[in-house]
Amino acid sequence: MISTDDIADIFKLYSQLLDLHDLDSFKAKNYANASFRIDKLGLDLSALSKDEIEKIEGIGKSLASKIEEIKQTGSFKDLDELATKTPVGVAAMLKIKGIGPKKVGLIWRELGIESIGELLYACNENRLVDVKGFGEKTQSAIIESIQFLEQNQGKLHYANAIVLAEAWKEKINASIQPNQISITGDIRRMTEIIEEIDFCIEAIYTPSHIDAINQFYGSETAIFENNILTLRSEQFPLLRIYYTSAATYINTLFETTANPLHLEKLGYITTENKQSEEAIYTKYQTPYIMPELREGLNEIEYAKAGKYSQLITYPDLKGTLHNHSKWSDGMHSIEEMALYCIEMGYEYLGMCDHSKTAVYANGLKEDRVRAQHIEINQLNQQLYPFKIFKGIESDILMDGSLDYSDEVLATFDFVVASIHQNLKMDETKATERLIKAIENKYTTILGHPTGRLLLSRPGYPIDHSKVIDACAANGVVIELNAHPYRLDIDWRWIDYAMSKGVPISINPDAHKKEGFLDMYFGVCAARKGGLTKDFTFNTLSRAQIETYFENRKRK
Ligand SMILES: [Zn+2]
Ligand SMILES: [Zn+2]
Repeated sequence: MISTDDIADIFKLYSQLLDLHDLDSFKAKNYANASFRIDKLGLDLSALSKDEIEKIEGIGKSLASKIEEIKQTGSFKDLDELATKTPVGVAAMLKIKGIGPKKVGLIWRELGIESIGELLYACNENRLVDVKGFGEKTQSAIIESIQFLEQNQGKLHYANAIVLAEAWKEKINASIQPNQISITGDIRRMTEIIEEIDFCIEAIYTPSHIDAINQFYGSETAIFENNILTLRSEQFPLLRIYYTSAATYINTLFETTANPLHLEKLGYITTENKQSEEAIYTKYQTPYIMPELREGLNEIEYAKAGKYSQLITYPDLKGTLHNHSKWSDGMHSIEEMALYCIEMGYEYLGMCDHSKTAVYANGLKEDRVRAQHIEINQLNQQLYPFKIFKGIESDILMDGSLDYSDEVLATFDFVVASIHQNLKMDETKATERLIKAIENKYTTILGHPTGRLLLSRPGYPIDHSKVIDACAANGVVIELNAHPYRLDIDWRWIDYAMSKGVPISINPDAHKKEGFLDMYFGVCAARKGGLTKDFTFNTLSRAQIETYFENRKRK
């Protein structure tokens, strides 16, 4: 049964799609007005005949016949035609506050963006600022609105979830005042996508706790069972609080942190309470294993073999490769980026602006490459001993070739090769395309190998082992793109890469100064994959990496 509200919604959608496709704006207005009127009339259109509807002010013959069609079929032909021409992800962008349908259409046509996730990523890369009719304000409004939508989905990127969890921890501390509290579960394991936020607390439950939590959480349901308080809301991920006594605190924290497979492989049984997680591992004759590694893969054997003594840490990073400046789609100048790196204590910065094929990102044509190199030479004199390496993020074309001639490629200190366009490929095609680029003698680092955007785009399918083998054979480093929406290469493949002797470079892909901080999330993911310091490319010092690039170029 089609209600009057449904009809109003359908008219509104049609009006939006007309604007989105940049069609008859007069017609679009007409439908928008009709939708508004129908909504406000308070009439029951389903009870009225076609003749009666026709006589309503602002409706008329043509709209009345559309209403008739909607009543019978749930839609109308013109709308259906337009809807089939609109990708689902583009239509979904209409939900974003702060941009109307005309702007959604522009984003789609001008930037080729087909989903909300891709749009968010483009905003974070500062790509909307240069599109006509947009500005920094619109861009940040879009980011906010999308993040809100994302939260509504109940799933968060780790980087956003950890901020929320830390804030909630403070609030629980202040209101419930437990003797102890820890974040546990997937967040403590630094899982890249978070669907629930868990805490372990030492406290005695009372129903007033629910009210206290709802001050910030606003749950629709709250259930306390088996000492676990579980709350659900539309706005946030699920929230779970494990109540314990002082005696059981550590065991509960341990049990709720680990992937159940880890407990199984350890042979863990809850019998005696321990005072520390170290003591639990000792009981099972295993060295202490960091929370992020407790996935139930091969971490127990690896820990016993001493493989984790050199696990990468954030302070181990000596510099940062793969970053963008104002020359392409970044927000800051090379100098601003470099000064920030110096402030952070880094020894070098690899600039990798977009290459000429990336027109949407103001990629560098050959003459601008030369001009940028002059600027970098000057800055290197000025900032010595800090070093800016001349890099490029060269697009991997459809056939796997890079988008500059060998003469131009030879002018860079290093080359990051990445796929940005024509992402719809099957596994064979994508793998071949990557391998061709890896075999290019100028490729130094393979950029974000799958092109995934977590929570919005799955990435093209690749045969990871073949790609890693090719990197091993050609001496190519693999990037772990540290942007919290990418974390690509997936940490699950790091162990295989190390077994083949392939180093991993933790690259922030920074498009503004603060982007360097994302390397922290890269380190989190790398540690999950067991990446060691000696296999992390950017733990090399400035001098070491300089030699590496020189040697590689000589070959
Ligand atoms: Zn890229
Ligand atoms: Zn990039």
